Amino acid sequence: MDIAMEQRPTATRTAPLRTGEAYLRAIADDGRRVFIDGELVKDVTRHPAFREGARSIARLYDMAADPANRERLTFPSPADGAPVLRAYQIPRNHADLRAKRLAAESWAEATFGLMGRTPDHVAGFFCGYAAKPSVFAAGGQGYADNVVRFYEHLRDSHLYASYAIVPPQIDRSKPAHQQSDPSLYAGVVREKDGGIVLAGAQQLATGGVLSDYLYLSCIHPLQPGDENQAIGVAIPMNAPGLKLYSRRGFAAKAENSFDYPLTSRFDETDSLVVLNDVFVPWENVFIYRDTRICFDQWWKTPSHLYGNLQAQARYATKLRFLLGLAKRMNEMTGHDRNPPVMVQMGELASLATIVDSMVHAQEVMAQVEEDGVLWPSRATLYSVMALQSEINPRMIDIVREITGAGMITLPSSERDFSNPEIAADMERFFSTPGHAARGKVALMKLAWDFIGTEFGNRHQQYEKFYGGASFLVKMNVFRNYDFNRATQLVDQALDLPPVAAG
Ligand SMILES: Cc1cc2nc3c(=O)[nH]c(=O)nc-3n(C[C@H](O)[C@H](O)[C@H](O)COP(=O)(O)OP(=O)(O)OC[C@H]3O[C@@H](n4cnc5c(N)ncnc54)[C@H](O)[C@@H]3O)c2cc1C
Repeated sequence: MDIAMEQRPTATRTAPLRTGEAYLRAIADDGRRVFIDGELVKDVTRHPAFREGARSIARLYDMAADPANRERLTFPSPADGAPVLRAYQIPRNHADLRAKRLAAESWAEATFGLMGRTPDHVAGFFCGYAAKPSVFAAGGQGYADNVVRFYEHLRDSHLYASYAIVPPQIDRSKPAHQQSDPSLYAGVVREKDGGIVLAGAQQLATGGVLSDYLYLSCIHPLQPGDENQAIGVAIPMNAPGLKLYSRRGFAAKAENSFDYPLTSRFDETDSLVVLNDVFVPWENVFIYRDTRICFDQWWKTPSHLYGNLQAQARYATKLRFLLGLAKRMNEMTGHDRNPPVMVQMGELASLATIVDSMVHAQEVMAQVEEDGVLWPSRATLYSVMALQSEINPRMIDIVREITGAGMITLPSSERDFSNPEIAADMERFFSTPGHAARGKVALMKLAWDFIGTEFGNRHQQYEKFYGGASFLVKMNVFRNYDFNRATQLVDQALDLPPVAAG
């Protein structure tokens, strides 16, 4: 197979920065096949399950297009100097990496850290691929050229990619090729003129419904025999045969934004991706039937580091928001100066500071490894990710502890304030000194939406698994910790000269 013939012309011109409106126009009614509650969604920008999530993404694009944020959220495209999303910058030095982190923080603040797969997440992976195309060239130079060109296309057109890189949880006891049907897990089923045909399913495209492109690959280690699944390809979300089966749409069930302030705005949704004979032209194929390259793309390029540096900047922002929620609730309940509560708040603040500081440490300890590109510190990144599945539930539990029934003893809905028969009681029993009832209830509902609603609980699952199961992340720390330096200390202790007796 000769992939060189199929290449697109090199991108030479950068598109004007994308506005929110342009983004919404691009994904509206474009033929993508998204299914929810048994129905095909005609236009995700109008459907109640996806509309507000799409608008939240649109606001991020508007922020980046605002000249006031030019320095913070964009950088000059190497193609022609026109501004493009900072998320697509390949960091050459510490200042570049810091600038990427600050951009990620700005978008995370705009969504309170509650949207994980904003356009800057998978952008980080493609920066990592373009920084180290030699990994892809091991399969043929054409694949390396394709991945660099596709990165440039995403960068210079300000596009939003999501990804599905985990096989569906059908039977984890067997590799892909030994499943009851060898095309259950997403993979190539045949070659066709100009490209390949894919079938099967892959989990779990968070934000897939809202994105322009899906990156389909596999992060699970594949075995000999699994070559059909060892691919890395980009697919436009409206490609014929591509289907997204969304989980329950929380936003569609949220009655109003007073009772569900977060659900109603920030549900990015998660979807199982199903491929029914999806054609992918060679130009969008970066890895083809190669288990080694499929594995190396994550660990021998800085892709996983850049993507997860963004994820950690987002998570640190989300924890800051959680601390703010807890503090405000304590002020409302009169516990703010209660010493045991102060101790618990101190523990919360310690955990949030550890996460925040580890983001900075990844940056400070980053090193130029190869090709003049800066790689964030692996041991630092994976250490904090490995402990996240313990830190996060601990923090949520502390907030539950200090809040008592505060997030539950609330009017059933906003409508209770409008019934004249009970309005006075609402004010009398739901207010707190210095705060009218409506303000206090709004705060408590905000906290409950963060912690206790279906949206809040999905977030706890997300923080546990977005970077893979924690046993896998701990293996990453094991692979990257400097055990030599540690054991040298032990050797030195064993070599200490004897202490003279007496
Ligand atoms: C809300 C949410 C959003 C997500 N978004 C995305 C996304 O955008 N893109 C994407 O590709 N994926 C995404 N994921 C998927 C995520 O990558 C996977 O859920 C994750 O990799 C874990 O895989 P799994 O769910 O199949 O669990 P499994 O691999 O089946 O593991 C489940 C549990 O089994 C146990 N276990 C299994 N094997 C072992 C072992 N060898 N040793 C010890 N214990 C073991 C562990 O307790 C593990 O936690 C998301 C997941 C969630 C929950």
